[in-house]
Amino acid sequence: MDPTGTGPRACGGAAIEGVALERIAADLGTPCFVYSRAAIERKWREYDEALADIPHWICYAVKANSNLAIIDVLGRLGAGFDIVSGGELERVRAARAPAARVVFSGVGKRDDEMAAALEAGVGCFNVESVPELDRLAAIAAAAGKRAPVSLRVNPDIDARTHPYITTGLSENKFGIPAADVRGLYARAAAHPSLEVCGIDCHIGSQLAEIEPYLAALDRLLVLMDTLAGDGIRLAHLNLGGGLGIRYRNESPPPPAALAGAIAERLAGREIMLMLEPGRSIVGNAGVLLTRVEYLKHNGSKRFAVVDAAMNDLIRPALYDAWHDIVPVRPRDGVPEPYEIVGPVCESGDFLARARPLVLEPGDLLAVHSAGAYAFVMSSNYNTRPRAAEVMVDGDRYHVVRKRERVCELFAGESVLPADPVSG
Ligand SMILES: *Cc1c(COP(=O)(O)O)cnc(C)c1O
Repeated sequence: MDPTGTGPRACGGAAIEGVALERIAADLGTPCFVYSRAAIERKWREYDEALADIPHWICYAVKANSNLAIIDVLGRLGAGFDIVSGGELERVRAARAPAARVVFSGVGKRDDEMAAALEAGVGCFNVESVPELDRLAAIAAAAGKRAPVSLRVNPDIDARTHPYITTGLSENKFGIPAADVRGLYARAAAHPSLEVCGIDCHIGSQLAEIEPYLAALDRLLVLMDTLAGDGIRLAHLNLGGGLGIRYRNESPPPPAALAGAIAERLAGREIMLMLEPGRSIVGNAGVLLTRVEYLKHNGSKRFAVVDAAMNDLIRPALYDAWHDIVPVRPRDGVPEPYEIVGPVCESGDFLARARPLVLEPGDLLAVHSAGAYAFVMSSNYNTRPRAAEVMVDGDRYHVVRKRERVCELFAGESVLPADPVSG
């Protein structure tokens, strides 16, 4: 569900819930990310309600949007959290969500991150390799603790998505080959500092179909049955995240359809299902507000130079991603095809190409589907402060991250000491 246009429209301009986007832009300036609490909660509940009949645990993938307010809103609903770094663990704790609800994924966990996660008492480590398992066991032994582990299986399933976000093929860096899993569970089960609790996979992101999930699920169930024969009983099965959203004309299944299909396949099994959705919870719950600075023609092309850039939203440059761009106050007139570009010194700095729009300098635009993999991937390239983030809650809004100030960007830098005076 797109958050804009669902609330009252103040004087004809677009709104999120009950707050006009023009008001937010006037108060805080642009570029600015605006999220809808209601839209986030609605998506989370779609998963939760579709799984009501089976034991389940929905762990929001923090990397999709790690703002503390989003972690907090989901934590209040009872969500768990899938993290991929020690930094994300600190965010979850800063948002006062319990560490026991955290699962720790990622191929490159460092010693200090593992030790901190053990100390905090995370619910599960999703282990991705033999050396990682051995290292976790050693760290747990040294700390006098038992580490809860799940092994991330690489099910060798083609998720049929963009190659950069396909993660479940044997050629990808993720997970443990299915053929090695049995031996590794035996090793984990025998280690006094490890507690085997589950099995997991994550096959990619922006998936448009249910079938690859079911194929992965079937592989995991076969492995689980084999392990049960070895005397290793698993408490949970984690199918990861990855459900897609509609950016343009995609029609991925809604969370309830995916969850329902999985629940059906699991009927009669005593197992807790875990999912790690990120994009499908927050992706369409946010927009990036930006203002048109200049209109210009170069040769045959028309450019709208806006105040947001690839450093704010890198998805178009990185994945050739398409984001809908909608004027907050549409104008009458004949649409012209505009290249929507930012001020950054790269020709790859575009938000959209050949978009038919009626524009004037100063117009406010909403870049849609900017709730996931947007702010979190932003950078300070060209010494551009990162944008403010706002969460709308009914007819109020809250600044959940202040716009950065330029002085903060080089606060940790220094110039060299003075050169010695030569005689
Ligand atoms: C990125 C990631 C997710 C979330 O993926 P989405 O496409 O945002 O749902 C879940 N689990 C793991 C292990 C991930 O790396």
